[in-house]
Amino acid sequence: MSEAGPASLLTVDLAALAANWRALAARAAPAECAGIVKADGYGLGAGPVGRALYRAGCRTFFVARLNEAVALRDFVTEDARICVLDGLMPDEEEIYTRRNLTPVLNDPGQIARWQAAAIRRGDRLDAFVHFDTGMSRLGLSPAETQKLIADRTALDGLKLVAVMSHLVSSEEPNNPLNGDQIAKFRAIRAAFPAAKASFANSSGVFLGADYWFDQIRPGCAIYGINPTPAAPNPMACVATLQARILQVREIDRPQTVGYGATWQASRPTRVATIACGYADGWLRSISGRGQASLRGQTVPFIGRVSMDLVTLDVSNVPAAQPGEMVELMGPQISVDSVADLAGTNGYEVLTRLGARIARNYRDLSA
Ligand SMILES: *Cc1c(COP(=O)(O)O)cnc(C)c1O
Repeated sequence: MSEAGPASLLTVDLAALAANWRALAARAAPAECAGIVKADGYGLGAGPVGRALYRAGCRTFFVARLNEAVALRDFVTEDARICVLDGLMPDEEEIYTRRNLTPVLNDPGQIARWQAAAIRRGDRLDAFVHFDTGMSRLGLSPAETQKLIADRTALDGLKLVAVMSHLVSSEEPNNPLNGDQIAKFRAIRAAFPAAKASFANSSGVFLGADYWFDQIRPGCAIYGINPTPAAPNPMACVATLQARILQVREIDRPQTVGYGATWQASRPTRVATIACGYADGWLRSISGRGQASLRGQTVPFIGRVSMDLVTLDVSNVPAAQPGEMVELMGPQISVDSVADLAGTNGYEVLTRLGARIARNYRDLSA
């Protein structure tokens, strides 16, 4: 990377992204593989990600917010379904129908509102219905579920495309909640035999064929986060973050580095200052623990992560030069290892990547 290049650069490998989606689709076939592109495609760019997934064959997308769905509609054609997990709030009926979006109905009021919209239009409207089997977050409660099963007239005029639920602890294969949720979900799907059943997130896909039903809903695994934390990552690396070295300096005992003087040299040390900080999403909690990769060597973070800068001990790379790019995340430094060191998960690492980071989408023809 030349010195005229960006100070920090996120490279998104769309071919790897498409390969990850295809691998998940092949594993769960004949179940349909949807694509979760909420939170701007897990921070990587919902537009380019959505388009690449569409080209790979994805025809059902999920976002969280209605405005995410409206934005995504410009990137995927009308033959792809876009579902909104937040559900149908008052006065949103018109925008859903106009942009051909599918609400995930989360409570009886939302079902009634969508049914009223269908009656007004004289048209059957597509819907997903979300049933809560343990998350206690979104979806019909167990009591509301029983009521709907006993009286389906609430769904008259709607096309119930799919019933869905969401796993609580799918990344823990031995957690009894998994089996508990699947038993509850089986009973629900049996009550709506004409609808498809949508259940597994990324880690759920790896719990086995019992979890696939008619549609899987992977997110993190598509983006290269390990869906099987206890085993090696079966997914390809998608996101690489690099930042430029701004300065290199020599310090020695008793000099300190950064705010709070939390790191003190005990010997001659080469310090590289790079153009990435917590304003770019590099969490301050990784201070003193993070690692970067430079010329094939691992170089540790020293001192505190500040707003715009991180300081590295590059004593083991004496030729390090200002202008060079270091890898903060990518093939050498996995997103999961960054998350572990920062005390969070890979989802938060990706979704915090800041607006100041330049973006490069590799293999747009993927
Ligand atoms: C985010 C989300 C997913 C995808 O989860 P991953 O763990 O990223 O695969 C699937 N379903 C629902 C309802 C979600 O909110």
